[in-house]
Amino acid sequence: MLKLHARTTALRGPGGLFSLETRADLPLVLRQSKAFLVHGSVRPLPLGFVLYVFIDAEGRGDQTEDVPCVVLPGEFAYLGQDDVIRLTDDGYVRVLFRASSPHNSILVTEQCNHYCLMCSQPPKNVDDSWILREVRQLLPLIPRSTKQIGFTGGEPMFFGDEFLDILRLAKACLPQTSIHVLSNGRRFADPRFAQHFAEIEHHDLMLGIPVYSDDPARHDYVVQAPGAFDETIRGILNLKRLKQKVELRIVLHKQTIERLPKLAEFVARNLLFVDQVALMGLEITGFTRANFDSLWIDPADYRDVLSEAVGILAAYGMRCAVYNHPLCLVNRDVEHAYVKSISDWKNEYAPECAPCTRKSDCGGFFTSNIKHAYSNKIRPFFEYNKDV
Ligand code: SF4
Repeated sequence: MLKLHARTTALRGPGGLFSLETRADLPLVLRQSKAFLVHGSVRPLPLGFVLYVFIDAEGRGDQTEDVPCVVLPGEFAYLGQDDVIRLTDDGYVRVLFRASSPHNSILVTEQCNHYCLMCSQPPKNVDDSWILREVRQLLPLIPRSTKQIGFTGGEPMFFGDEFLDILRLAKACLPQTSIHVLSNGRRFADPRFAQHFAEIEHHDLMLGIPVYSDDPARHDYVVQAPGAFDETIRGILNLKRLKQKVELRIVLHKQTIERLPKLAEFVARNLLFVDQVALMGLEITGFTRANFDSLWIDPADYRDVLSEAVGILAAYGMRCAVYNHPLCLVNRDVEHAYVKSISDWKNEYAPECAPCTRKSDCGGFFTSNIKHAYSNKIRPFFEYNKDV
């Protein structure tokens, strides 16, 4: 698991957001907006950068030059060209963007009007509008060549029109970048808000909205919010009426598996026009750890139910994706929908995976699942059982 947050040493200079530069021959005029990343020993240091970022891989401590600088722990040796970091005045670093990763997700707020049993980012009832200010600073630093970014929370729509302004800024700064927003969809039950969202006219923006059951009471129980199902469905209908892209997200656990085929039927009959249905494995973090016994079910034990749900959606011609599952724990008949999806910074494989011949096709595990629970039915592929 990549370290994204840590205490620094020897911060001499201002805090703030910095885009990293590794090219020592960058023209002088361009250096004033960038921080120079020093891997190993670069001598003499190229002059004119706003900050010098040393990686303390060799226990260099604070033995740095007389320049504005910061020393990061050796675990940050993965940082590279065009990555963006934030340094706080009290000496902490947080990695906000990694240019080499396809999994950049920007947290917008920790506030939410749901309290989901399996929330990976437990909501906090605090004023965190400072995060929006940070996102406004971050977006212009992200390279224009970036293929996709995500926005997540909490509930990004918690900030209403202010978040729509963030989306407008993203469109202006990154005109070719796809955007994915995770939202519970309830704010779009307001037709006026849905209209304002649609008027952004982004060329490639998908909303990922969870629907956990065809039974409103069961959905409301999973998200711990009475009335949520009704608002979410009305939000989805408003968005599709305005021709916005919507992906339904269904996290699979004990509370959702039992009715999954019925939910697939419900979606196919009532929401056939959504753009994709994602069936997602459970990440054992946040509230899931507290509610483990009422949520955890081994993917090996629901593989046939998963096949049935994928089959129903496919029969109706719906696009379906299976995320966050080890490949050997799904049936062959869902492989057409299988996606290697776990973000690279929290993705691992089990010791049993070492001899597997299909490791490169497999999404593996969340790091937290490896620590707390994973299936004892993992079965590495070998050449002779590749097609089993
Ligand atoms: S054994 Fe192979 S298919 Fe199974 S989880 Fe490991 S790498 Fe994936």
